[in-house]
Amino acid sequence: MERFATVIIGGGIVGCAVAYYLTEEGESDVLVLEAEELGSGSTGGSFGGVRQQFSTPLEIEFSRRGLDLRLVGRDLHAQ
Ligand SMILES: Cc1cc2nc3c(=O)[nH]c(=O)nc-3n(C[C@H](O)[C@H](O)[C@H](O)COP(=O)(O)OP(=O)(O)OC[C@H]3O[C@@H](n4cnc5c(N)ncnc54)[C@H](O)[C@@H]3O)c2cc1C
Repeated sequence: MERFATVIIGGGIVGCAVAYYLTEEGESDVLVLEAEELGSGSTGGSFGGVRQQFSTPLEIEFSRRGLDLRLVGRDLHAQ
């Protein structure tokens, strides 16, 4: 049986982002297991909107950092 240091279940935005940032940090032994197709879950149906208004400071901070990541993704897509 093959073994991996990290196994991620689900190839939506969360699983793919975790895999992406782990490999950016130098981890190369990562497996993403997807039952259907990458992005076939909620991710494929998303409108891609990024909210900036929330009711708690923590949610606002998550959203702010998400916007930074979205800009990184846009730059990667343009390459
Ligand atoms: C119509 C719609 C519009 C939306 N619009 C927005 C928006 O504008 N802005 C926003 O921020 N969010 C939006 N969302 C929410 C956003 O899409 C989700 O929060 C996000 O995509 C969830 O990502 P995820 O990776 O957690 O889940 P998913 O994208 O659902 O990925 C989970 C994956 O896991 C796989 N899976 C499940 N079980 C297993 C298993 N046992 N083995 C292997 N694979 C498995 C599934 O096939 C799926 O591909 C929207 C959602 C919908 C439905």
